[in-house]
Amino acid sequence: MTDTYRHKGMRRALVEEIIKKGITNESVIKAIGKIPRHQFLDSSFDRFAYNDVAFPIGSGQTISQPYTVAFQSELLEIKRGDKILEVGTGSGYQASVLCELGAKVYSIERQKKLYEKTSKFLSKMGYRLNLFYGDGYKGLPTYAPFDKIIITAGAPEIPKKLLLQLKIGGWMIIPIGGDEGQIMTKVIRVGEKEFHQETFGNFAFVPMLKNKATD
Ligand code: SAH
Repeated sequence: MTDTYRHKGMRRALVEEIIKKGITNESVIKAIGKIPRHQFLDSSFDRFAYNDVAFPIGSGQTISQPYTVAFQSELLEIKRGDKILEVGTGSGYQASVLCELGAKVYSIERQKKLYEKTSKFLSKMGYRLNLFYGDGYKGLPTYAPFDKIIITAGAPEIPKKLLLQLKIGGWMIIPIGGDEGQIMTKVIRVGEKEFHQETFGNFAFVPMLKNKATD
């Protein structure tokens, strides 16, 4: 699917919208303005691809709302070369934003079909990143430690194993809560066993589920 003037126009409007909603990080704004979100979605969503809403992407999952992607990306405060672990690859849209920000991206997805589809798609898009089919609760101990970790599914609790895969001084951005909604939380690893938390308001994500999916 091509990136037409119409798509570019809609993308500019989306950028204006997320700025109005409070996003200020220039690099994040540039990434949202560059990535052709319509190509991450089924063509039947083409007309709505730049609405600031979440959409179904198959396997009962969603591509996050652009504002939410921008908000989490801003909280990560990515420096070029940062090693980032994402839990919940989904459509790969958030992962692409992280690549555009210059991060070295590791991303885990528990739905096999989605993992396979997104792996093919992202390599076609020219993004170089490390994708894994597995359970995000376990993280990637072999590749740890990470500068930062981003969870893109609603987590009923903070996954303890993941905290220990953070560098000291690094942090995790995680929406904590159940079906009724989640609170965006930043958990900073300030020492070997010492963590500080800050919160950033309410969001709604699909749930972070245990283990790999069986299909
Ligand atoms: N970051 C995605 C949003 C995906 S929605 C995007 O930009 O499109 C959340 C994703 O998390 C879903 O694809 C879901 O299958 C996945 N997920 C849920 N629990 C998981 C777990 N324990 N490990 C890995 N992925 C998980």
